[in-house]
Amino acid sequence: MSTSLDSILAEIDAGAAAARDRLVDWLRIPSISAQPAHAADCLRAAEWARDRLAAIGFRAEIRPTAGHPCVVAHHPGTGSGKAPHLLFYGHYDVQPADPLNLWTSPPFEPAIVDGPHGPRVVARGAVDDKGQVAMWLEALRAWHAVAGGPPCPITVLLEGEEEVGSPSLDAFLAANKAELAADVAVISDTGMWDIATPAITTRLRGMVYAQIDLFAAARDLHSGLYGGAALNPINALARILGELQDANGHIQIPGFYDGIREVSNAQAAEWAALGFDEAAFLGEIGLKTPAGERGRGALERLWARPTADLNGIWGGYTGEGGKTVIAAEAHAKLSCRLVPGQDPQKVAAGIRQFVTDRLPPDARAEIAILNTTPGIEVLADSPWVKAARGALAAEYGKPAVLVGSGGSIPVVESLKRLLGLDSLLVGFGLNDDQVHSPNEKFELTCLHKGARSHARMLAAFAGGFAP
Ligand SMILES: [Zn+2]
Repeated sequence: MSTSLDSILAEIDAGAAAARDRLVDWLRIPSISAQPAHAADCLRAAEWARDRLAAIGFRAEIRPTAGHPCVVAHHPGTGSGKAPHLLFYGHYDVQPADPLNLWTSPPFEPAIVDGPHGPRVVARGAVDDKGQVAMWLEALRAWHAVAGGPPCPITVLLEGEEEVGSPSLDAFLAANKAELAADVAVISDTGMWDIATPAITTRLRGMVYAQIDLFAAARDLHSGLYGGAALNPINALARILGELQDANGHIQIPGFYDGIREVSNAQAAEWAALGFDEAAFLGEIGLKTPAGERGRGALERLWARPTADLNGIWGGYTGEGGKTVIAAEAHAKLSCRLVPGQDPQKVAAGIRQFVTDRLPPDARAEIAILNTTPGIEVLADSPWVKAARGALAAEYGKPAVLVGSGGSIPVVESLKRLLGLDSLLVGFGLNDDQVHSPNEKFELTCLHKGARSHARMLAAFAGGFAP
């Protein structure tokens, strides 16, 4: 295997300029899924990917959905019948490029610019997600050129609506469940720890989002005629919400922490060894003092602990000048980021109880739960992660760190729920890639080493999981 892997890596090295040019080609297509005027461009970007896959031996098709189409492609692989079947997921759509005046070059005229890590490509979609998809396309291309195809059976699924919340994806997965069957999903839409340190994302926080409406008097009241006699629902709501955290940042919603597993000592030590600079992290946003739970590390608070954050609060008079009113109602939006082990339905019930327990007489609360997504831990101790870590260590000369993501990646939850698939999240983006912002970029060294890493991972998966 190693001779053949060496020649595949050599093929990637020899083809680096052509790989860059292929990515630049794809980036020229303004496949902005949010804007109906770009529907034809979305189709063109899908066709571009279909044609690239067909050129390297895949049976590739454009498949309609209620929105922008998917690209589905299959390759039987050249390995033994024991090689695992991989589903590569990515998205060809991009965010709108506004505000255009902040770009140093036009967003759909990719520019190759020198940076501290060598040349980078600046364009909308450079890293999210065309550049990251291009890495595994290049790995598959090299396997095709040298070995006649990838060593594992491969299914490719590219969607065109990720940047607008994937409204058609669940229906597409459910309708094509048999065709999309695989052993694991491989997704590159996440980041490295830094340019020298590869990362596998194994924890994703979930969410419970609630709107809380508090009602008191039958109408708005004059605060001189009624103040001191009538219940003020804004005061009441502020008092209730003020009790969400205690002085140590511990969340007071009943049952909130039930089911959470503490991170292992080994994991905690690995995160501590990363030397995360919390002062710099906060300094960048004009803050100095860590918030959240006392006595827990910054990365643990971001990746492995839940939150309860008010996202909006309103009621009464909020215009210019004064208006002496006791409002009839008060409102708040509350989001809780959840971690693995928490039951979203139980957290939602806890939020209801927390508010109801504190309601003063004559107040009535309505609590609407707008979203519930569980926090998930993917594959942390699995042979997939072990094999991927080995491949990444061979490429980078240091082990990949297992990281968390403070937010969610909805496709991971959909693939699990609808196809029963776990996701291996190995991405090669960097913190300063300006995802969704003007001057989005992708380092060409990330493109190149990412392609080499994917080529190595394919060999590792095909070779079985024995060390
Ligand atoms: Zn995005």
